Amino acid sequence: QERAAALLGQEAALFVPTATMANQIALKLHTRPGDVLVAERHAHVVIYEYGGAAAHAGLMIEPIDGRAGRFGVAELEAASAPSSKIADQRATLVALENTHNSSGGRCWPLTELRAVTDAARERGLATHLDGARLLNAAVATGVAPAEIGGPFDTVTLCLSKGLGCPLGAVLAGSEELMVAARRGKHLFGGAMRQAGIVAAAGLAIDLEAIETNFVQIDVEPYGLTRWDALARLKEHGVGMSATVHPTKLRAVTHLDVTDEDIERAIELVPRALGVLVEA
Ligand SMILES: *Cc1c(COP(=O)(O)O)cnc(C)c1O
Repeated sequence: QERAAALLGQEAALFVPTATMANQIALKLHTRPGDVLVAERHAHVVIYEYGGAAAHAGLMIEPIDGRAGRFGVAELEAASAPSSKIADQRATLVALENTHNSSGGRCWPLTELRAVTDAARERGLATHLDGARLLNAAVATGVAPAEIGGPFDTVTLCLSKGLGCPLGAVLAGSEELMVAARRGKHLFGGAMRQAGIVAAAGLAIDLEAIETNFVQIDVEPYGLTRWDALARLKEHGVGMSATVHPTKLRAVTHLDVTDEDIERAIELVPRALGVLVEA
């Protein structure tokens, strides 16, 4: 979660089972029932989340006809203009999508995205980025993910799309919002006791680098030195060695290491390194 937060230019993050759940939690965080959500007409939150915005957060949607999934400040202003009615019905949230799924994975140029988030903030609207595919946008545009995610109040990232994890997504935002999001995660039934084992897939080993019988494990993401990590592994009965890299350990198979030994190590290593945390 800490790594995802830093990657997305936010203070904190929360691991959840799906990006749909991350979006739905975010909608509830920023709004009250009866509020208006502004989003592009074919956005995932509008057409692929099956009325979730209405069912879970009680939102009305003011859709904008976009171009390649994008829209400009004038369109945002028109869609979020204060109601002329006496009752205080208003847009409180704008959601953008990058890359935009329905338009075939189109990206927002950073300047356009910033113009819309700045205008939203001036008008008192909260901003959410459905960045399920944000890293595709980062690669395609050469812009750092934190630059894309940073201007928003909350950001969704899906780990199971192009990133290839078996499941999982992340919602990122301020510390304060993520405390509230944690409650949302429980309300949606998305708090998992087994979160560590699936979240770990998001910090995957570099498979490209494994060609033969060596697996190098970088323990830096877990806040451990190699000597701490080796001591913990030893306590759990798993022998590994240090490498020339200050934060990398080495696991090696050979004739006398059986398949059962490896299965056992797969269970013990995350436990020893404290990667298996409760949700
Ligand atoms: C796939 C997708 C989602 C939903 O992701 P799940 O993890 O399948 O719920 C949300 N937003 C966009 C833009 C997507 O492409």
